[in-house]
Amino acid sequence: RAKAKGRNTYGFYTEDLTRSASARLELETRLRRALDNGEFVVHYQPVLRVADGALLGAEALVRWQPPGEEMVPPGAFIPIAEETGLIVPLGEWVLREACAQLRDWLAAGYRPGVMAVNLSVEQIRRQDVVCTLRSVLADTGLDAAQVELEITESSLMEQGGQATELLRDLKAAGVRLAIDDFGTGYSSLSYLKRFAIDKLKIDRSFIQDIADDRNDLAIAAAVVAMARALEIAVQAEGVEQPAQLELLRELGCGSYQGFLCSRPLPAAAFAARFLSAR
Ligand code: C2E
Ligand code: MG
Ligand code: MG
Ligand code: MG
Repeated sequence: RAKAKGRNTYGFYTEDLTRSASARLELETRLRRALDNGEFVVHYQPVLRVADGALLGAEALVRWQPPGEEMVPPGAFIPIAEETGLIVPLGEWVLREACAQLRDWLAAGYRPGVMAVNLSVEQIRRQDVVCTLRSVLADTGLDAAQVELEITESSLMEQGGQATELLRDLKAAGVRLAIDDFGTGYSSLSYLKRFAIDKLKIDRSFIQDIADDRNDLAIAAAVVAMARALEIAVQAEGVEQPAQLELLRELGCGSYQGFLCSRPLPAAAFAARFLSAR
């Protein structure tokens, strides 16, 4: 949450501009202009198989690069973009950009795997997200199975019955569905089968202390066991230390992402480090 953060290098956005209504309006105006001016960029974080470190795909993560200023992380503007509805065009842009990048990598003979893109609750609320998705797939010529949409557990719960219908439509379009930040949404688990979820992403907060905290280890073990029993893929977020990866291997967790392997990188850096032609 931007508001909860202390003063930092992007405090201009996280604090001052979220404080008053006029400041929020100013940020909204700046974000709108930023979208028109092409100031957003997508970085890519690799997703790797726990067993052997093979590249399975990437998660697309948006950043804002105002000219001549420091790069602004999503936590500082996604909440405002959601409140103002700007997340709808911004989210569509990210989806298009990430899918176009995947197509370009495939065309270059690379094997980037599956591209994961985050969907905001505000996008989910609007039924036309399915149309947007179909249009992006048609324009890029990608196979829908190469795209994974990440939806946070808490946002899914907010939508109630409407989410059921929407996720069914997304599934029908052929994309993979992942539950992001799993374990933080205190939801009923019954939705896992109902929604035909493909993957659970164990929230970073459980992985962080997995090597030192027996409770966190127990939770991670239970999530992995449940996912496996339900035949849902399971991925750990925020793996920073070799000891965490080792434990995940012992638990049988399928995939991971985290600073241990790499931070999210600009497209060219991602390709240079993780992709090579067949
Ligand atoms: P998320 O989808 O859960 O993405 C994972 C976040 O964890 C990313 O932060 C990533 O940089 C960070 N991370 C990955 N590995 C590690 C690690 O080992 N240690 C630590 N400390 N952090 C790690 P980022 O890029 O700042 O994004 C934050 C959140 O902003 C995302 O969380 C997602 O909820 C949201 N977000 C980012 N891009 C988009 C987007 O295009 N659309 C929407 N709706 N939300 C987005
Ligand atoms: Mg995510
Ligand atoms: Mg996450
Ligand atoms: Mg997270």
